[in-house]
Order: sequence, then C-alpha cells, then structure tokens
Amino acid sequence: MTQPMKYERAIVIGGGITGMLAAKVLSSFYREVLIIEKDEMPDSPENRLGTPQAFHPHRMLPLGKQIIERLFPGYTKELLEMGGFNTLHQTSRFMTKDGELQLTDTEETAVTRRALLEWVLMQRIANEERIHFLEKHEVNSLQFDEETNRVIGMIVKNRGNRPAKNISLLADLVIDTSGRMSKLPKWLKDAGYTLPKPDHLTVSLGYSTRYYRLPPEAQNMQSMVIVGQPNEKIPTGLFERVDNDLVAVLLSAAGGTHYPTTDAEKFEAEASALTHPAIAEAIAQLTPHTTPKGFRVPYCARNHYEQMLDWPSGLLVMGDALCTLDPIHGQGMTKAALEAQTLHRMLKQSQQHEHVSFERETLQQMQHAIEPGWWLCAIADMAWEGVELLAEKPIPHLTFIQEYLNRFVQYAIQTHQPKHLASYQKMHSFLIEPREIINLEQLHDMIEADQTGETAKWWGQWRKENEELNRVFLQEAVPDFQLERLLHI
Ligand SMILES: Cc1cc2nc3c(=O)[nH]c(=O)nc-3n(C[C@H](O)[C@H](O)[C@H](O)COP(=O)(O)OP(=O)(O)OC[C@H]3O[C@@H](n4cnc5c(N)ncnc54)[C@H](O)[C@@H]3O)c2cc1C
Repeated sequence: MTQPMKYERAIVIGGGITGMLAAKVLSSFYREVLIIEKDEMPDSPENRLGTPQAFHPHRMLPLGKQIIERLFPGYTKELLEMGGFNTLHQTSRFMTKDGELQLTDTEETAVTRRALLEWVLMQRIANEERIHFLEKHEVNSLQFDEETNRVIGMIVKNRGNRPAKNISLLADLVIDTSGRMSKLPKWLKDAGYTLPKPDHLTVSLGYSTRYYRLPPEAQNMQSMVIVGQPNEKIPTGLFERVDNDLVAVLLSAAGGTHYPTTDAEKFEAEASALTHPAIAEAIAQLTPHTTPKGFRVPYCARNHYEQMLDWPSGLLVMGDALCTLDPIHGQGMTKAALEAQTLHRMLKQSQQHEHVSFERETLQQMQHAIEPGWWLCAIADMAWEGVELLAEKPIPHLTFIQEYLNRFVQYAIQTHQPKHLASYQKMHSFLIEPREIINLEQLHDMIEADQTGETAKWWGQWRKENEELNRVFLQEAVPDFQLERLLHI
C-alpha cells in the first residue's frame, strides 16, 4: 500500500551536476537536503577525481541552460563574468564531405570548462539554507526497511577520518546521482532484488582532447565541427572556444576500430587527416596548452528500473546513474536538467494527489525525459560499423531515419539553407520534435531540390502505395516525444 510521503530529509548521493540540480529542486519540498559527495571539493574551479570526464569539453545546450537558469537565476551571467566564452552573435562552421554551412548563435550561452560549470552551481548551493553538502563521504550501501519495502537511509564512509569511520544516515527520500559508475545495481542485488536488463549501445567510443592557448590577435577564430565519416573510419573533429583564452580540439570516433591518438606528436597529423583541413590549419597558428588526453566509453547504458514492480519506495535514480548518452552529442547535462524538471513536476503532483505511487511513476516519467537523447544517440552512433543496440525493443525503421537525416543535412548544405541546419541542431538539443524535420512535406522539398533525381530514387525504396500509408510509415518510424509535456512543470 502506498504510504503518505514525508518531507523532512532527502539525501542525494553524488555532488555532480545532476546531484546539485536535484538538490535544488528537492529544497522546495523537503525541510533538509543533504548532498553526500565522496570527493573533497576543490576551493577553486578545478577538476577532481570523481568526475574524470571533466577534462573534456562540456557544452551546455540551450535547453539545459534555460532549465538551470530557472533554478539558479543569473547562472549564465556569472559564468560569463568568470571568463566563459559568450556565444551570442558568434558564427560557427559546420563541415561535412558535401560542403559547409555557417550558423550564427542567437542565444547568450557561456562555453566554459566543466569545472567552472560545477563550481558556480556549488557556490549557489552553499548559499541555500536547506541544502547541506557533506564532502569526503562515500555511500557504501543502502539501508532498507524490509517490512515496508522502503529505503530508509544509507551507510556512509567518512573518508576524512583515519581509520575511515562508517556512519548511518536516515532519509525520507534517497536519490542516487552518483554517475556512470553508480553502485546502485549492486546495492539492489545485495538486498535481494532482481534487476531488469539495461539497454546497451555498444559505442566503443574513443575521445582525445587537447587544449590550445588563444593569443589576443586570434580572438576572432570560429568554433567548428568537421563531421566524421563512419564508413571510412574518419573521426569527427571539434574545435571549440572554451573561455576567452582557450580552444579545445577534440577528435572522436565510435565503433572501436580506431581510437583517436593521445600521442602529442601524432595529434596534429591526425587532425589534418579529418574530412576538411580547417582544424589543422587553425591549430597550426596556436600553442598547445596541454597534452592530449583520452576517454573511452565502451557502451552507453539505459537502466529500466521503472520495470521493477517491487521497486522500493523512498528511492530514485537520475543522471548518468540512470542512463548515459554518447558524450560527443553534448546532451548529458541537458538530460540531467530535464530529469530535474521531471522530479519537480512529480513532487508537485504527489503533494497534490497523495495516492500517486510517487517513485515508480517518477521513474516512468524519467524514461520520457531520457527517450529523445537515447533515440538520437542510437540513430547517430549506429552509423559507425561495430556499434550495436542491445535492447528489448529495436528502433523501428532505423536505416530509413539514418539515411533521411543524412540527406536532410546534405540538402541544407547544398541548397545553402542554414535554417535547416539550425532545425537539425535544435532537434539534437531537444528543442523541436524530430517530426518537424522528418515528414512528407519536407521530403517532397528535398526531392524537388535534388536535380540528380537521387533522393527520389532513394525514396522509391521506402515509398508505400499511397500518401496515407506513407504517413503511417513515418509515424511508426519517428516517435512523438511530446517535448512540450516534458518541459511543463
Ligand atoms: C568525455 C565526456 C564528455 C562529455 N561532454 C559533455 C558535453 O559536452 N555536454 C554535456 O551535456 N554532457 C557531457 N558529458 C556528460 C556529462 O558529464 C554528464 O552527463 C553530466 O555531468 C551528469 O553527470 P552526473 O552528475 O549524473 O554524474 P557525474 O558527473 O559522474 O557525478 C557523479 C558524482 O557522484 C560522486 N560519487 C560517485 N560515487 C559516490 C558514492 N558512492 N558516494 C558519494 N559520492 C559518489 C562522484 O564523485 C561525482 O561527483 C560528457 C561525458 C563524458 C564522459
């Protein structure tokens, strides 16, 4: 039977981006919110051991920024004041084997180091009366009340003490946001639960990032993306302004047959072997600030805890601990923000309707927040040979979607229409539904614009007997993510 919720103390495991967003949401509902973080938090915006990904560029998508601004007004302004690179009115180059388009950013966004993104949030959290940050404490296990099938707290190791001391902390709600290495599956199994099989996208992804200093005379250098060619195993290259004085150059490839080099001697040669020479030409004018560093992601995982009928009350999971996405698409923090928004909506709802089975319904709603990112990552990454989706449900008409989107980008470039590329990027940023660009009207425009007749011939392989059946086919192929509902608090 569902028990009435108590709103005394909530505990968040992990003080990363997801943890801090979740804590801020919880603080409007719970008297006390405790964030437990195993790391010692730095006293300046520096990387730390618990977030090894932080060396690599972390781009915040506009939607993530909007949600975070709602929770922490003035966030972007503060990042800009601390040296973040302002993207407003900046043009960036997007290059593929078919040509190039430039896009001008119409939003103020701060591109900065991940350590600074986190640092500013941490300072804001420090000013929140109801939120307390317990650093150097590592959660080792959960505590359950077996009679009521409820998580009531956790055992935490104080890493600051020698010998380390274990303490027990009790809570009305525990949220695991401990990231991609979360021990939640083990804790649940140890407590006797059977876990559903997670979906795996076997990306075998390799990253290599090197930072360069940007001298004052090169301030007008543009950010750029050179899209990789999966079938020729040519990596994707990213040249991204980070803060006002740095550039991150990132090489990435999926599929596992080639991992971009982390050898400083070979890095620039590999950059010059991309589909376009622009990044190599730009870095020839710059001085390296770091050596290249790698990061490998064997697979992205999407857990399906919402399927557990015996899921314990008093427990939730969010962020990378729930689902990881391929980092090259830069969606992880925005997904975390969407999940925080979902948490807010569900807490509000459960206060209004006590009968709601809060935890299971929230986990189900979290799946809606994850779905667009997971679908988009799977579609893009499965273009690389060797990437497979191991999941209960395959993606319907995957090849059609992949080929359609390739043709859509090609069409945008060949007809010199940046607005279409902007729509493509908005789709990847969860701002518009894929149906807004994958539809029959758009397809007819693409066919008409292609004087070689190639697109018409390609559509001939998929086309059904009549327009009505074509629409049904497209509806099956392109999910409706109901983004509007997702964004509603
Ligand atoms: C190489 C790379 C590049 C990326 N680039 C981007 C990008 O450009 N844009 C983007 O939006 N996303 C990007 N991401 C994804 C992004 O890093 C995450 O999705 C996002 O930061 C949310 O992570 P999180 O807070 O859920 O977990 P994490 O950031 O991993 O934080 C988990 C926290 O929990 C702590 N912790 C772990 N276990 C315990 C424990 N037992 N007890 C207490 N504390 C614990 C850790 O120390 C850590 O502080 C990238 C990821 C990678 C790997």
